[in-house]
Amino acid sequence: MIRIEKPAWDTMVSHAEKTFPKECCGVMLGSDGVVKEAVPLPNAYTGPQEDFFVMDPHDLNRVDAQARHGGMEVLGIFHSHPDCDAYFSRRDLENSCPWFSYVVLSIKSGRFDHANSYRPDFDQKEAPKEELIYG
Ligand SMILES: [Zn+2]
Repeated sequence: MIRIEKPAWDTMVSHAEKTFPKECCGVMLGSDGVVKEAVPLPNAYTGPQEDFFVMDPHDLNRVDAQARHGGMEVLGIFHSHPDCDAYFSRRDLENSCPWFSYVVLSIKSGRFDHANSYRPDFDQKEAPKEELIYG
């Protein structure tokens, strides 16, 4: 289960809506399965950003250090699916880390529609849905 506090959730939704029709991405920080802060990051994918996202490892390292400094840890990654449902694609799975929660936000016609969270297994073969509480 992952719970996202309202300020962090609002940051995620507004970043996803602003980035529409491209995919947005960012990192979720907190502790004990509770997200207290969301950090939007630029999509570093050089192909069509309507279809995919990549995060710069330097950005990730910086956010990780920032989290530790604030007594938090990286709990997961969020990204959006523009005009598409909040499923976990095969490509998402291939690029995932098993110890993170992956929140996918479905943005339709520029507005938030729904969201799901997934937790990839260690072989990156499957990513079961986990309970997501937000707002
Ligand atoms: Zn995706």
